Amino acid sequence: AIDFKWIRDNRDAVATNILSRNSAANLDLVLQLYDEYLALQKEVERLRAERNAVANKMKGKLDPSVRQALVEEGKNLKETLIALEEDLVQLTDKLQLEAQSIPNATHPDVPVGGEESSVVRKEVGSQRNFNFTIKDHLRLGKELDLFDFDAAAEVSGSKFYYLKNEAVLLEMALVNWAISEVSKKGFTPLITPEIVRSSVVEKCGFQPRAQNTQVYSIDNSDQCLIGTAEIPVGGIHMDSILLESSLPLKYVAYSHCFRTEAGAAGAATRGLYRVHQFSKVEMFIFCRPEDSDKWHEELITIEEIFMHHLDFISNLGAPAYRKFDIEAWMPGLERYGEISSASNCTDYQSRRLGIRYRPSPSEPPAANAKKGKGANSGPTQYVHTLNATAVAVPRLIICILENFQQEDGSVVIPEPLRPFMGGLEVLSPKP
Ligand code: AMP
Repeated sequence: AIDFKWIRDNRDAVATNILSRNSAANLDLVLQLYDEYLALQKEVERLRAERNAVANKMKGKLDPSVRQALVEEGKNLKETLIALEEDLVQLTDKLQLEAQSIPNATHPDVPVGGEESSVVRKEVGSQRNFNFTIKDHLRLGKELDLFDFDAAAEVSGSKFYYLKNEAVLLEMALVNWAISEVSKKGFTPLITPEIVRSSVVEKCGFQPRAQNTQVYSIDNSDQCLIGTAEIPVGGIHMDSILLESSLPLKYVAYSHCFRTEAGAAGAATRGLYRVHQFSKVEMFIFCRPEDSDKWHEELITIEEIFMHHLDFISNLGAPAYRKFDIEAWMPGLERYGEISSASNCTDYQSRRLGIRYRPSPSEPPAANAKKGKGANSGPTQYVHTLNATAVAVPRLIICILENFQQEDGSVVIPEPLRPFMGGLEVLSPKP
């Protein structure tokens, strides 16, 4: 359940956050609907009390004409109540739908302006000195026959691509390697649906109905293409109460991601950097609120280990409140580019998705305790959710090609990926 009272009490902060996040949420409408909801709820409660009072009056011995009048009054009250209760259900739905598009709070330190303005917390690795003229991933891809952007532009449109030859093996190796490494740490592997209900997309904090939305909606349906596996994984425990003993629930999910990239412009839009469809392996955790900071650090550590194994020169962005980004050096672009992110969504998604947990009893249940009711099990609470990139394929392909290129135009495959590519060590230009 969304905390409307908090939203109303923090109206200015919520409005500022909506503006700075470029969100289409309509706060005035949400608060107006909330007022209407409160008034209607009060009226329904008043009528219920009145109906009960009438029913009580009818308990004793009564003059038939008085009884008849009371029966009439009770009947009218019942009819009015049924109509108002129906209105209340509809109003609640409308309120929930409108409120879903209010974005999660942003910390005051978050740099405005997205990944280009992030602040660096930590740097790893040192720049490689190339003693030859380097090529960017587009040129390398052409000489190694790894992509076809031209055919994709004809078949699908701009910012689509075919991967060819060893690039196909490289994508699959990255995905397999990531899934196998992360699942060793107790994460359950998943392959998710890639079309989901729009309501679930909104409950996860994405905005299919906003202007310039990043989300592709499917015409004549209430469904969208996913922009990240975070959405179907977040939804996997929708509307349920988890046992505390089952937490944390950790998943590692493979999916394609679809993004309109509305509004994205600039130099970094060439080639594979910013495309409409890409493959990604995503980590996702449901945990107790008090553990979410610890799991956030753990997710970042896994991401850092990946960078280390791939031997990338990378940096970790300063904590942008609940989101950390890792950037890697892309020699062809002559700059760092974001390759992964890790977010702690706290109870933002779980409130909307209805995911709670029941604390375990602090003492073993007494022998005569009723089934399912522990001695001291407390009220249910919302879980916290976290998500983080394990590998997002296209930008890693850029990094691998550009960082590990050799003077003869070949590219050395990072060691951890070789077992997943039939032992292939080097990509060599075709004769
Ligand atoms: P996000 O879910 O937006 O935090 O993105 C996670 C990762 O996916 C980013 O760090 C990028 O590596 C990758 N990514 C995001 N958008 C795109 C895109 N349009 N094209 C290619 N890779 C992307």
